[in-house]
Amino acid sequence: HKPIGRVTCLGSGFVGGPTSAVTAFMSNVDVTVVDINPERIRAWNSDWLPIYEPGLNEIVYAARGSPSTNAASQYEAPQAVPRHKGRASLHFSTNINKAIDEADLIFVCVNTPTKANGVGRGAAADLAFVEAAARNIAQVARQDKIVVEKSTVPCRTAQSIREILSANANPGVRFDVLSNPEFLAEGTAVRDLLTPDRVIIGSETTPEGLRAAASLVDIYSQWIPRERIITMNLWSSELSKLAANALLAQRISSVNALSAICEATGADVDEVSNACGLDSRIGPHMLKAGPGFGGSCFQKDIFNIVYLSESLHLYEVADYWRGIINMNQYQKNRFTKRIISCLFNNLTSKKIAVLGFAFKKDTSDTRESPAIALITNLIAEKAQVAIYDPKVKGPQIWKELVDAGSKAGHLKQIVLICKSAYEACQGADAIIVVTEWDEFSNKEPVNARKVEADQPQGNDRLNVPEGRRTFTPAEFTCTTQLVLSEISTYLSKETSPSLPSREAQNTNNPLNAL
Ligand code: NAD
Repeated sequence: HKPIGRVTCLGSGFVGGPTSAVTAFMSNVDVTVVDINPERIRAWNSDWLPIYEPGLNEIVYAARGSPSTNAASQYEAPQAVPRHKGRASLHFSTNINKAIDEADLIFVCVNTPTKANGVGRGAAADLAFVEAAARNIAQVARQDKIVVEKSTVPCRTAQSIREILSANANPGVRFDVLSNPEFLAEGTAVRDLLTPDRVIIGSETTPEGLRAAASLVDIYSQWIPRERIITMNLWSSELSKLAANALLAQRISSVNALSAICEATGADVDEVSNACGLDSRIGPHMLKAGPGFGGSCFQKDIFNIVYLSESLHLYEVADYWRGIINMNQYQKNRFTKRIISCLFNNLTSKKIAVLGFAFKKDTSDTRESPAIALITNLIAEKAQVAIYDPKVKGPQIWKELVDAGSKAGHLKQIVLICKSAYEACQGADAIIVVTEWDEFSNKEPVNARKVEADQPQGNDRLNVPEGRRTFTPAEFTCTTQLVLSEISTYLSKETSPSLPSREAQNTNNPLNAL
């Protein structure tokens, strides 16, 4: 089979960026990542990468061959980055056609959101970006290419890609299509890519298909043990990805359903979850109750299975998987309702601190974050909301809230985006911990240096008003560690940074002026 020298990745998002960086870092292939979004490419070429993942800065800077000097990279928690084995050639570019033309193998890592319009609206995958990518490859390619479907797609999409490629191919050009779904989890993407549980490669069972699969195996086997690289047929490979996400989400919805029973009976869901997780047949992962799962994948991929099942007239199967999403929605609503009722069903002018906006810790991704619906509800209840997230930037928070239906002008009046947890919690009537970032757990204030730098000068400690309520997933029968007393204890330590006086707060904080 053909050795691969040059790889191009279409799409520089949460999958394309880290996957390409690790591939360039660990193998001897040259990797060029391209995107139709020039802003993203500019960010990948800068010292401020467009996404946050622990360990990613180090790998990207090393693979790009441009070690960063900026403070942000030094600020990252040191990661156990393995010794770089490859030649490290990673490029980010907007010249899509050139990158396609030069590549032996092309990863398609474009987005596949749920369709917003037309047939299958709200359930089927929107394959417009995949189709456009396939057409682009076909039009530009002047030599044979292996096209690797890495985006999560409905079962049998490889067939459509193959048809589009062959119908639009330049004379004499041959394409082999492989399925190689990505199983990385955001927040642990680098670790998952360096030491994956498994790599799945689906191919046609023809000699050409098997040869193409062997070429991709060659790349991965430069850093992944051969027995973890599993080859199979195309349709099994495509379905494996949807199945894995559906099973993971099913565990979360199951434990969330149990949390409702726990609250009504006095059982502790953490104890129940621990008791179940110790069973080796069940295992401990994905068994934490919380405010509902978010992220760009779980809901979309389950909708995908529901749609597929219905298309196949498997209605009971569709209902079964749909139940997981219904339970998630129920849990999100329950979290919000509980907060409102604990605050005497009146949030008017109360200041609510929301700690965390990302859909989970260690990522800057906010897609489908439970924080969005929660804050939108708090705003509807006329609360004043102070938000802090260690890695999500202000404009991203505004965008998500506006997309969710809030008016920008109104938001500016009642929402404050803060530079630290301390600032958000000042004078708050309630603190809601939505994302389980480590710095909100008193155990390891990883971002302490940053917090110190953000602290305005002053002498007073955090003023914790009597009767303030803190809502953490822990209190809400979940295991996030931060509780109000822990914040107060941490803040009142001798070493903790001092906080401004109430008067200074009143002048500085637009919320107080309302
Ligand atoms: P993303 O939206 O972060 O990135 C996709 C990128 O592709 C965007 O930057 C977009 O501009 C670019 N793009 C779209 N069409 C293009 C084209 N024709 N040429 C070049 N670039 C193009 O999405 P993501 O989170 O990286 O997910 C990508 C795929 O991987 C999806 O199918 C998703 O389901 C799957 N996936 C995601 C995760 C995850 O954790 N995010 C994990 C596994 C699999």
